[in-house]
Amino acid sequence: GEKKPIDLNALAEEYLRLSYHGLRAKDTSFVADYKTDLDEAIGQVEAAPEDLSRVLLNLCNNAFYSVTEKKKQADKTYKPSVVVSTRRMDGKVEISVKDNGTGIPEKVLSKIFNPFFTTKPAGQGTGLGLSLSYDIVVKGHGGELSVKTHEGQGTEFIIQLPYHQAAV
Ligand code: ADP
Ligand code: MG
Repeated sequence: GEKKPIDLNALAEEYLRLSYHGLRAKDTSFVADYKTDLDEAIGQVEAAPEDLSRVLLNLCNNAFYSVTEKKKQADKTYKPSVVVSTRRMDGKVEISVKDNGTGIPEKVLSKIFNPFFTTKPAGQGTGLGLSLSYDIVVKGHGGELSVKTHEGQGTEFIIQLPYHQAAV
């Protein structure tokens, strides 16, 4: 897609909410805490908003799915939670989508970015979300998409985008 200066914080906030409300619309019993932790120093970032929004939506949907799965197994003290944060760093910005869900087993981890790889039941996942997200971030924006996970504890996906101070 076409790149233009965008408000990354607003986009992150918007798609976290869209993801949550989209899932609630399909299943009224679905609940999870969610919040943003945004770095106000980010300003405008050069990016393709339609593409980046698909990445955010997919990462948030995956995160909410994972906490919902964990809730089925966990005890009553478990509080499903998804946090989206942004951070401005030297020459780049980071967007993190972090959940306290199931985590990803080591055997699965090596395959998650492969097209059509899914562990979800038929009709619940296409397995295309992460491969598409990877292409958008890496090929489309010259960034990086990485994952940190602990089985049973949760997962964090980190998008890194090259950051150029927008001309004022
Ligand atoms: P889909 O969501 O259609 O399964 P994705 O490409 O988005 O396809 O994800 C591929 C697989 O990676 C998922 O089926 C799941 O096994 C794993 N995965 C992705 N995100 C998470 C997450 N936040 N927590 C646990 N597993 C995840
Ligand atoms: Mg997905």
